[in-house]
Order: sequence, then structure tokens, then C-alpha cells
Amino acid sequence: MTLTAGVVAVQGDVSEHATAIERAAGRHGETAEVVEIRTAGSVPDCDLLLLPGGESTTISRHLHAEGITPEIVDHVAAGKPVLATCAGLIVAAADANDDRVDELDLVDVTIERNAFGRQTDSFEAPLDVTGLDDPFPAVFIRAPVIESVGDADVLAAFEGRPVAVRDGPVVGTSFHPELTDDDRIHDLAFFESALAP
Ligand code: GLN
Repeated sequence: MTLTAGVVAVQGDVSEHATAIERAAGRHGETAEVVEIRTAGSVPDCDLLLLPGGESTTISRHLHAEGITPEIVDHVAAGKPVLATCAGLIVAAADANDDRVDELDLVDVTIERNAFGRQTDSFEAPLDVTGLDDPFPAVFIRAPVIESVGDADVLAAFEGRPVAVRDGPVVGTSFHPELTDDDRIHDLAFFESALAP
């Protein structure tokens, strides 16, 4: 089967995410056709969606200005999977704790942006993730943490603070799973759950 995979392409590692999705699909005997989402109209054709990192204020503004927001909300309401990473998670959250972000309210969490501070802007850490057998090499870049969790499951925590969560068909991570060649988070979000037969 060929899956249509939408990657919101306002900012961020669009091609790295596309590669990870294609690889994860291949392992399940599927093919992924990646569509870059910049305007309204293509989300309804997508089987799965990816919201990459970048700057959450910019991404949120773009999604609303282009009329993409209601299409993403409908996608999730239909039970189709989404992986939201870093700024993508901030945008997908119920509360980003920042008036400049108009949240999609898809993941029942409150976010603290840039929570690790300037001194530890970027770092990599092995992370135990629920559903994965071995630790995941997580790359954090000016990463948010999940300050509080409502009706959602925490999948991973770093130093006691949640950094990966699942709310129904949506998986959100504070880190950048596309920056390693380990695509188990894409696998977990797209192929081990809602799409799995
Ligand atoms: N600091 C960014 C924000 O708050 C997120 C960083 C990222 O996506 N790597 O929007």
C-alpha cells in the first residue's frame, strides 16, 4: 500500500523527516509518498502528518494564515496519526504558555518553551521510550518540556520532566527524532498504532 505522508513544510527538517517516514514505511512493506504542506488543500489527502520543529510562533502563524489549521484538526478527529516534534509539539499542544502561539489543541499538555536554557541549548541523551526496546538517541535543540499532562500518556522523561507524549493518534516529542538515522519514533507514531492492521 502507498501511504500519503504530509510534512508541514513551513520550517524545519522536512527532508530528514521524509526520509525517516519512507524508511519506516519500507520496513512494514509499505511505500510512503511524501507531500510538503504549505497551503490548504493537501492535508485531506494525507494518511499521516508530520509537524516538524522550527520556531513555534512562525509555524502557528503560517498554519492559521493559510487555513491549514482546521484541516489538521479534522485529520486528528478522523483518528489519523500525527507526529509533532519540538516546535511542532508546541504548536500541537493544548497550552503553549505563550500568547504568540495559537495552539492546535491536539495534545492535552501544557508546554514550557526553551526549557533547558541557553547554556544547554543543544544536547543528545539516550532516552527510555515506552514501546521501544532500547534507548533512543534523542537530540534536543532549544527544546521545550511538557510542564503538565492532562489526558495523555507520557512516553519518555528526561531528568524527571516529560519529553514525549501520546494523546490518541498524536505523538509529540520535545526532541528531534529525524536527526539520527534511527526511525523508531516515526515507526511508533505511524506504523505501530493507528495505521497498523
Ligand atoms: N525553541 C523553539 C520554539 O520555542 C523550538 C526549537 C525547535 O523546534 N528545535 O519554538
